[in-house]
Amino acid sequence: MRMKGRLDTMAIVEEKFLRVEKSQTEVVKVRYSIIHGDDDGPRIFVVAGVHGHELTGIEVIRRLKPYLEMMKLHGRITLLPVANPVAFSTRQRGTIYDNKDLNRCFPGDKSGSFTDKLAYEIFNEIVVDNDYGIDLHTGPEGRVLLPHTRIRKCKRINQVKALSRVFGTLIAMSPDGVESMLTSCAGNRGIPTIGVELGEAYRIDEYFVNAGFFGVVNTLRYLGVLEGIANVLDKQFILNERHNVKAEHNGLFFPKVNLGQVVKKGDILGELYNIESDTTERIYAERKGIILARFSQSVVLPDMTIMSILTVDDCLLNNAALKKGRYIINHYKNPENLWSSFEY
Ligand SMILES: [Zn+2]
Repeated sequence: MRMKGRLDTMAIVEEKFLRVEKSQTEVVKVRYSIIHGDDDGPRIFVVAGVHGHELTGIEVIRRLKPYLEMMKLHGRITLLPVANPVAFSTRQRGTIYDNKDLNRCFPGDKSGSFTDKLAYEIFNEIVVDNDYGIDLHTGPEGRVLLPHTRIRKCKRINQVKALSRVFGTLIAMSPDGVESMLTSCAGNRGIPTIGVELGEAYRIDEYFVNAGFFGVVNTLRYLGVLEGIANVLDKQFILNERHNVKAEHNGLFFPKVNLGQVVKKGDILGELYNIESDTTERIYAERKGIILARFSQSVVLPDMTIMSILTVDDCLLNNAALKKGRYIINHYKNPENLWSSFEY
């Protein structure tokens, strides 16, 4: 363990490693940092790289660490930037050794295969020693996702909803999820933990990094780990029903809408150029909704999902009660205004 104390603030940073056995002679080291505040307060973990090819959260944590080291903190923050370094170094979602997806292995098994052991170490050394958690993800390759939070079952569901709201995305989703996901397992232990989706795999894009950095800092302010109060949108919509728009044939795809844009029936979503017939056809929205995901590459194949639209008919509002004095409401229509008006 390496301890690094600063003279100008009391923040003490512990650099630590999980050691996960790969074979009888080989161990994989997983680096994480614990930043201790001046005094007691909430304990929160922020994790990224559970899926090795999802980079936005890794970059968010890389920027967060020096920022937090300079700040006056109360409580404790644990940063785990690359939860599965094997998947990261092979540019894959899961682990090459056992073909497992870390986010289907929680709470882990210390006598299982490598990924089960990795999940066990992360869960028992980091997750259960915290009061709250944030798990940063992205969409898969070629599918860019509107920044949104994921609310999963938890014994303290109102606290999960509060975290979701202060993270600052306009949209939240509340899919059932799978029991072996990190967020679900933490929730079962009564540790409110949100999942966050930011952009797409293999890419680092400032827009999504900004959304993530703002979201974590805002959450830390709300919880009182950082000083200052949170900036919150007046509404967060919980939407679950989605409609996928598929390509009817292959060709070149030209999207004409942006993520988060509200479309109504008949609006043009994009154009598809058919190389065989040398014609371009327009793709229209079949119903009203918000653009959740967009295919980010240019060549599409038949039946490929090129757009996902969240249906707004059964829209719920996130009605989580927030703690008085910990936040101010902002009436922005676009969450980007929230991030850009924030003083760090
Ligand atoms: Zn993921």
